Amino acid sequence: MGTALQSLLARSRKARRLKLLLETDAQGKPLLAVEVNGKFAANVIVTFGSSASINLEVTAHEGSHVEDHQKFISALEAATAKNPSLTDADAKSLPENLTKYATESKAYHVSSYIAEYSKTPNEFWDKGMQEADRQKAIDQHLKSSALYKITPKPGGQGPRLYETKQ
Ligand SMILES: [Zn+2]
Repeated sequence: MGTALQSLLARSRKARRLKLLLETDAQGKPLLAVEVNGKFAANVIVTFGSSASINLEVTAHEGSHVEDHQKFISALEAATAKNPSLTDADAKSLPENLTKYATESKAYHVSSYIAEYSKTPNEFWDKGMQEADRQKAIDQHLKSSALYKITPKPGGQGPRLYETKQ
């Protein structure tokens, strides 16, 4: 294969790879990721409710979400490197494209472990709590809170990290 063709193919592969990862909205703002020094970083904005104090527990909880988004972007980058014609549907079906329930359950586990570590009981941890009770407390919160209304049941887990309208 000629070098010109090779470089053309490489460029078009890169363009397609960048298309999914660097998709922007109508205002030109990145949707999924931003490129920083040749690496893709998840485009995540963390907001803290005005009434919530920004403490270790809340920060670690949000950090868990950032980690989930970054893992998805890394998986998407790896998948597009392997298959440059990766489709939007393929991207959505990556196992790293977690449901709302999965990312919140993980983040509230972090909240719970921080509470345990700092010996400050909260909704997700109390002295003498068994491991199964921890999951139960988290599930109860995710189900009953108006903010979530999600359950571990298939179909009840809420939207995924990457879910665009068709
Ligand atoms: Zn959360």
